[in-house]
Amino acid sequence: MSESKQTEDQYFTEQQTPFRRLGLRVKELLHEEQTDYQALKVWQTTDLGRMLTLDDLVQLTEADDFTYHEMMAHVPLTMHPAPRRCLVIGGGDGGVVTEVMRHPEVERCTLVDIDEAVIRAGKTWFPRVSSGYQDPRAEIIVGDGILHVREHVDTYDAIMCDSTDPIGPAVGLFATDFYRSVYASMKSPGVFNQQVGSPFYAAEFIRQTVAVARSVFDSVHLYVGAVPTYPGGYWCYLLGTKGQIDLRPDLARAAAVQGKYYSAGVHQGAFQLPPFVAALLSARA
Ligand code: SAM
Repeated sequence: MSESKQTEDQYFTEQQTPFRRLGLRVKELLHEEQTDYQALKVWQTTDLGRMLTLDDLVQLTEADDFTYHEMMAHVPLTMHPAPRRCLVIGGGDGGVVTEVMRHPEVERCTLVDIDEAVIRAGKTWFPRVSSGYQDPRAEIIVGDGILHVREHVDTYDAIMCDSTDPIGPAVGLFATDFYRSVYASMKSPGVFNQQVGSPFYAAEFIRQTVAVARSVFDSVHLYVGAVPTYPGGYWCYLLGTKGQIDLRPDLARAAAVQGKYYSAGVHQGAFQLPPFVAALLSARA
C-alpha cells in the first residue's frame, strides 16, 4: 500500500497543541485499561517497538526512551558528590529507576507513583525499561509524591520527578508547596530535577515554573535534550539544588554510566542553552 493510502486507523495520533498532532504508525493495541487516574494503553508500533500512552499522550517508546531516562537519572546523580538515597516521583514505567541502578554509590532508590497500573504495565509490557525494579536497592511505593516528600524530611540526596504533564494528580508537582516539601526532604547538598516540557510548546509554563522554583531552591537551572516522540522532539528539564553543587559531572562516574544518549560531554552541553531557552531562566514571575 502506498504511504499516502495508509488509513487513519493505522496511526496513533497525539494532539500536541490545538494546531499540531503527532502521528505514529501502529500495528496493534496490546492493552488498555481505565485506571483510577488515567487511560492507560500499550501499543505495538510499526517501527518504535512498544509504546506506553496515558490519556493518549506518549510516555515512552522502546525505541527512544533512552534519550529521556538517561538524562533524568545521570545528570543529577553524576553532579551530586554522594547520591546514596534517591527518590523517583512518578516514573512508574521503571525507566528512570533502571538508569539510577547503574550508579553503584546508590544505596536505595525509592519510587513513588500514584498509579499502580503504570508500575504493573512497566513490569508486564516493558521488561527492559523496568529491569531496575529487580535490583534489591529498589523500593516501590504506590502513593502521592506530594504526600511522600512532606512525610520524609531530611532523607534524600537526589529527587527526580518524572511525572506526567501538569494535569490531574500531577498539577501539584509544580507548585510552591511541593517544592518546599522537596527542599525539606533533601539533605544538604541535595539535587532535584523535573521534566518541564517542550521549550517550543510550553515556554510560558517553563518560565513560570522556574520563577516558582527559584523562590525555594538555592539555585535553579534548565538543561535540554532530544526526545523524538515528545512534543517538539526537544525537551527541557528543571534542576534545583539545596546548598551549592557544581553542575559539572564527576568525569569517572559519568564515563561509567555513559549510555546511548548520556555522556559527560552531553551533560555539560545540555546546560548550554539556546538563547530562547536561557531567556526562560532570567524572566521573573
Ligand atoms: N516520562 C513521562 C513524561 O515526561 O511525561 C512520564 C512518565 S511516568 C509514566 C508519569 C507518571 O507520573 C505516571 O505513572 C503517573 O501515575 C505519575 N504521577 C502523576 N502525578 C503523580 C503524583 N502526584 N504522585 C506520584 N506519581 C504521579
